[in-house]
Amino acid sequence: MIHGAPRRAPLRLGLTGGIGSGKSTVGQWLASFGAALVDADRIAREATAAGGIAVPAIRAAFGDAMIDKDGAMDRARMRELAFRDAGARQRLEAIVHPLVGEAIQAAAMQAAAAGARVVVFDIPLLAESERWPPQLDRILVVDCSEATQIARVQARSGLPRETIEAIIASQAPRAARRALADMVLHNDGIPLDTLRSEVRRIADGFGL
Ligand code: ADP
Repeated sequence: MIHGAPRRAPLRLGLTGGIGSGKSTVGQWLASFGAALVDADRIAREATAAGGIAVPAIRAAFGDAMIDKDGAMDRARMRELAFRDAGARQRLEAIVHPLVGEAIQAAAMQAAAAGARVVVFDIPLLAESERWPPQLDRILVVDCSEATQIARVQARSGLPRETIEAIIASQAPRAARRALADMVLHNDGIPLDTLRSEVRRIADGFGL
């Protein structure tokens, strides 16, 4: 046991925002200022990648045909199946969600054990979830107009406008996200270095 004051549990900060809001950028900066970053999207992708924690159960439930030669879930096939068969989609979610939830908690515990003051949970679909908000001490929402979202995602990925609009429509509306927020970062019409200063200020507020 190391001497000194007992270590406090880290603050659990939820970070969310629609696609193209700047959420990942804000998360990276918070991490660079000393927060531990738990990236829910990355953990979810890893769960179904080669050697991922959800692969054995997916193989057992859906058969070898859904696993590619590298041992990853065959995303294209599964997407196609889930699209036409809602039951299959539910079975897949029932396998993947709890495992991803456990992996997220494990990552957060590891960060706490390593002495993190703040753990940032980067959760794209936070506002769509009933489970997450009660587990967080604070929620930071990165917000911008839909037009800005579209422009940024187009510049980043070159996806067609209709596809981006469909993704935005599938996510919680802006108002629902903002209703959850303890803090809102308005990331519209400001340069990146202004955004960075705002994030620095928020990090200061958390003692980072
Ligand atoms: P999200 O994770 O919300 O999808 P990102 O953080 O990946 O969004 O940001 C989307 C893109 O927009 C990135 O290329 C990022 O550099 C850019 N971006 C975000 N905020 C600004 C800003 N204030 N000014 C200019 N570019 C920005």
